[in-house]
Amino acid sequence: MAEGEKSKRHLYEVKDDKLVRLRQECPKCGPGIFLAKHKDRVACGRCGYTEFSTQKSKSAE
Ligand SMILES: [Zn+2]
Repeated sequence: MAEGEKSKRHLYEVKDDKLVRLRQECPKCGPGIFLAKHKDRVACGRCGYTEFSTQKSKSAE
């Protein structure tokens, strides 16, 4: 059994036939380091990288 592969799948979600990443990786720290999601931004707790979300939130959904 591939345990590692199984746990990795939890980071993804199939929505409308698209593979959606549930968590965004830090571009500075690289794969494996994920950004913490905030109300209007995402931030890396390791290096302090912050990225403001420009997309409008779909509150109607
Ligand atoms: Zn980082």
